[in-house]
Amino acid sequence: KLTLSARVGRIKPSPTLAVTARAKALKAEGRDILDLGAGEPDFDTPDLIKEAAIRAIRAGFTKYTAVDGTPELKAAVVEKFARENSLHFTTSQILVSVGGKQSFYNLAQALLETGDEVVIPAPYWVSYADIVLMADATPVIIPTTLQQGFKITPEALDAALAYKTKLFVLNSPSNPTGAVYTHAELAALGEVLRRYPHVLIASDDMYEHIAWGPEPFANIANVCPDLLDRTIVLNGVSKAYAMTGWRIGYAGGPVDLIKAMAKVQSQSTSNPTSISQAAAEAALRSGTALVTPMREAFKTRHDWLHAQLTALPGLQCRRADGTFYLFPEISGALKALGLPDDQAFAEALLEKTGIAAVPGSAFGSPGHMRFSYATSDQTLKEAVARLRGFLEPLQ
Ligand code: PLP
Repeated sequence: KLTLSARVGRIKPSPTLAVTARAKALKAEGRDILDLGAGEPDFDTPDLIKEAAIRAIRAGFTKYTAVDGTPELKAAVVEKFARENSLHFTTSQILVSVGGKQSFYNLAQALLETGDEVVIPAPYWVSYADIVLMADATPVIIPTTLQQGFKITPEALDAALAYKTKLFVLNSPSNPTGAVYTHAELAALGEVLRRYPHVLIASDDMYEHIAWGPEPFANIANVCPDLLDRTIVLNGVSKAYAMTGWRIGYAGGPVDLIKAMAKVQSQSTSNPTSISQAAAEAALRSGTALVTPMREAFKTRHDWLHAQLTALPGLQCRRADGTFYLFPEISGALKALGLPDDQAFAEALLEKTGIAAVPGSAFGSPGHMRFSYATSDQTLKEAVARLRGFLEPLQ
């Protein structure tokens, strides 16, 4: 009999990928499915980026590269951090990986021991907790509510940090809530972190360009430069440049940590795909010109969908300052429909209306749903009409 590791028993398959897979399977069966589960831009990768990849193939750039990324891409990452984030790294502080997901995986493997704690605000990107568990460490979750704008307070952070804390993960703009920490809020969290000098900070800036809050984007190292030497900045081209399938993420941080993360990568995947690296280099060198029209489209859809969801009974929906998700609280709807929890809501919604969306419990926040608006206006319109029908009994 096959005996699997306790490690793999501790984790679950990515629930967001599972919803997408189920939506695709139902579609293949001929069901009329509206996919609001996707965690990726619906736009095509811009031509300028595709052309760079095609040129790379033609030029025979199809062999192993340096494990930690090509010198050219690493230079482009250094320039990107300097130009867009006022963060001044050297190339020895940069690691290019197979998506932001591998960046975080490498970080966890390089940093964490059994018994170490990682403080993660909820709702959180689904993979943080599982990747921490795979490294035999313990996620410590700080819950937040819609009323708090889904943001942790300095007091809650202070209460969660401990002697055993090795890492604190901050994701702003946040998947799944779209919440963005203000500069003042980041400063207040930084104030707490100064009292815990043994804690490393991971700033996941994956959605920095898909944001429309009142302030320009800043991460905690921008607001608290004295924390930079214990901050690892995680980012990638997946969301900003509609490049989810190319699988390129990158990290900037302390040299020794980056070196250790590269060692993990050298014994797992080796280098990210050479062709994708050429494409990512073209993307980063193009700056933000390609990103702007996509951001504007997301913002327009956000405003429309937010207005629609707010008008529906049984849902409470906050505006988001970024990403392409809305994260309504659904306790009113659950009660009125006689459903036990958000998972039952997601299943009933898919069964009765064909709308695929991810239950909040997947993000550590039961009683909510995540609706992605990285989809066409027509799909969104139809989804709202079906959702209205689904919630009809509440009227
Ligand atoms: N970080 C956040 C907050 C995300 O939402 C995602 C993707 O969903 C990632 C990181 C990783 O993205 P990728 O591995 O495609 O670069």
